[in-house]
Amino acid sequence: MNFNLIKSFKYEMPTKIIFGCGVVNQTGKELEKLGVKKVMIVTDRGFIESGLVCRLENSLKCSKIEYVTYNKVQPNSGDKLVKEAANIAKDENCELTIGIGGGSSMDTAKAVAVMVTNTGNIMDYAGMDKIKNKPLPNIAIPTTAGTGSEVTIWAVITDHEKNYKTGIGSFMIIPKVAICDPELTISLPTHITAATGMDALTHAIESYVCTATQPISEALSEKAITLIGEYLRIAVANGKNIDAREGMLMGSLTAALAFNETRLGIAHSWASPLGAHFPISHGLVNSILLPNVMEYNLIGNPEKFARIALLMGENIEGLNLMDSARKSVKAVRDLSTDIGLPQRLKDVIDISEEDIRKMANEALQSGNNLVNPRKPTLEDMIEICRNSM
Ligand code: NAD
Repeated sequence: MNFNLIKSFKYEMPTKIIFGCGVVNQTGKELEKLGVKKVMIVTDRGFIESGLVCRLENSLKCSKIEYVTYNKVQPNSGDKLVKEAANIAKDENCELTIGIGGGSSMDTAKAVAVMVTNTGNIMDYAGMDKIKNKPLPNIAIPTTAGTGSEVTIWAVITDHEKNYKTGIGSFMIIPKVAICDPELTISLPTHITAATGMDALTHAIESYVCTATQPISEALSEKAITLIGEYLRIAVANGKNIDAREGMLMGSLTAALAFNETRLGIAHSWASPLGAHFPISHGLVNSILLPNVMEYNLIGNPEKFARIALLMGENIEGLNLMDSARKSVKAVRDLSTDIGLPQRLKDVIDISEEDIRKMANEALQSGNNLVNPRKPTLEDMIEICRNSM
């Protein structure tokens, strides 16, 4: 390898990661080490109904940590709920937030931690490094294998009145500890397993082919693509298969460890406006957009796309570079078809040409486009969405 070809880069990861079956029982001990006495658990009713939150509560009780629970989180974390939960956390003198659930709960917990120590509305802190006062610390416990929010600097929040969804990005909100317990994902319904798994694959692929990719993120993306290619079908076929759940949680974790430093690409540029304007899950948007975005991006980084095809088990022997690269699109389409996800936006939401034009302007503003391997114009953005209809 010619090391002169490697550009300079930074890789920063302050989060302590604890991974394995049953590790949620260690949460109380981790809080003892942090010297924390009272916390707010932030979650949603769907996860409460799984009955698994008692594992976290028992661990807190064993360590004599007091807690209050806020369980009203909605998909695509909303700013109003952040404010409500932060007021409770302030009144109750909570010293740390624990997000347990999918990305919506983990992101809400990060945002609540910000609003306990900062004034105004969480949307005032949208963008990179806009937070003024040091937030409360937070711990993240994922129960979906998708977003990887347990190790990212991002909290994605929606202003439901303005139909606007955006990210608050700062190392100030990266979790102190990520507690990754595959047993907490066993109760995930099939369709959420499928959609969140495709979200993780989108993270791995968009980070891998983007212009900000670097040796550490590349290695993490390759691991994630391999794991998701190997385990997502099995996790969907039998949610109780703990090896598959472990593989998927490790896949979403490694994908997030990759994109946290690089950012993403056009699928994610579209995910925010589509998720803000229409009742569609983040994972499903990415799943439908991803192969169409890959087709558009192929000429920007064909070697990497050919490698994705290989990692996902495609035979590219004897094919030229572009045909090898095209096989990566086939591999992604086959996977999302096999796990039963819709292939077209119109199968899920009622979307007009006018909607596409309006949202394309929002999608074009995303910081993810800056690192996308092909520079999109407004017309390109419109075409990609049309192709996903
Ligand atoms: P989610 O958090 O909205 O959860 C989806 C559904 O799954 C909910 O109804 C929830 O109750 C249910 N659920 C979760 N775990 C369960 C379990 N173990 N058993 C039964 N039901 C369970 O979905 P998500 O895809 O994990 O998160 C999406 C959000 O994360 C979006 O707002 C997205 O923009 C954001 N996101 C954030 C980052 C980041 O870095 N912070 C990255 C990607 C996406």
